[in-house]
Amino acid sequence: MYRIAVAPGDGIGKEVIAEGVKVLQAAADAENVTLQLDYMDLGSDRYLSTGELLTDDDIKFMRDRQAVYFGAIGDPRVAPGVLEKGILIKMRTTFDQYVNLRPSKSWHPYTPLKGEKDFDILFLRENTEDLYMGAGGVLNGKEAVANMALQRGLYDVDLSLSSKASSEQEFAFEIGMMSRKGIERFADHCFETAKRLGKEKVTAVDKANVCTSLYGLWRKVFNERSADHGIDVEYMYVDAMAMALVRSPERFGVVACPNMFGDILTDLGAEIMGGLGVAASGNINPVGVSMFEPVHGSAPDIAGQGKANPIAAILAGKLMMDQLGRPDIGNMIEFAVKMAMKQKLVTADMGGTLNTVQAGDAIANIVRSSG
Ligand code: ATP
Repeated sequence: MYRIAVAPGDGIGKEVIAEGVKVLQAAADAENVTLQLDYMDLGSDRYLSTGELLTDDDIKFMRDRQAVYFGAIGDPRVAPGVLEKGILIKMRTTFDQYVNLRPSKSWHPYTPLKGEKDFDILFLRENTEDLYMGAGGVLNGKEAVANMALQRGLYDVDLSLSSKASSEQEFAFEIGMMSRKGIERFADHCFETAKRLGKEKVTAVDKANVCTSLYGLWRKVFNERSADHGIDVEYMYVDAMAMALVRSPERFGVVACPNMFGDILTDLGAEIMGGLGVAASGNINPVGVSMFEPVHGSAPDIAGQGKANPIAAILAGKLMMDQLGRPDIGNMIEFAVKMAMKQKLVTADMGGTLNTVQAGDAIANIVRSSG
């Protein structure tokens, strides 16, 4: 039996999670597995009526379960950032979900890439460090000019400028930082994942030719861990990687990215696969509570109209079952999604005619008939 916290959230989150649960349940039944699905009320309605975002009780509720299945949050009535910081980011940091997992696969005929390229990439993104640590600020006037001079070795800079300190002289900085400990645990997870999937190498992305300190340590640790795990590592600069992902995505298997480059490349990965409607993700703590969600948001523009594509949420359920050690259930779900796509049993964003519930039913029926 698996105990799972289910938080549908806002907007289309509610609609797509209902379909995800339907498919999960069908696949679990086929394998005689019991899923105990315990629902949580997170999101804008609760925030607007009680002021609560993610409370200590919510955290305890999740901690007592093996995984969290999450829809989406977002609401035009709430200022941007409030729900994201107060619920999503708080959840990721509280549970130290230091790996972001996002597969990118060729879902023919929905990939926009030319030709019938078959690719199956698993992006793993370090989720806690790098340029997203929040180590930044804005200096002003005299201090800014002096610091800039110091940093760039421009000792002959005309510091008299500083006497006219103004907003024109503002100097902003954002520092990218990574710790050995942070890289080690992430690299270990990447190599262990490659081993589990039967891959011989991990592709590590960076910009070590320019940010030599930051990605110098990244490479040093990846080299060490590669030797320890007996799995090769190849390095790609992020700019070359962006080109290669469009030209020859079939070359890649497990791709390890630092936080910011991973943020960008995984959106490229989503798009070459077929877009937001099919992009699923996991926020993983390999030894703790992980959370699985569609990449898209609450999409208020189509909420409540039955237009939402449930596939991203359904595939998030597949990732969850894989992570819980049941790839048999995960594979059954993915197979059914593939069959539904082949038969054009999809929503309008993918050129089909089904509504959200019909698309979910079609996939659940395929699970039942194949299980
Ligand atoms: P949020 O503020 O919660 O991030 P958003 O609308 O800004 O919401 P998304 O939810 O990611 O961002 O949606 C971006 C666009 O993609 C929307 O216009 C939406 O209609 C479309 N979209 C997103 N998810 C789906 C889906 N599952 N099915 C169909 N269209 C979708």
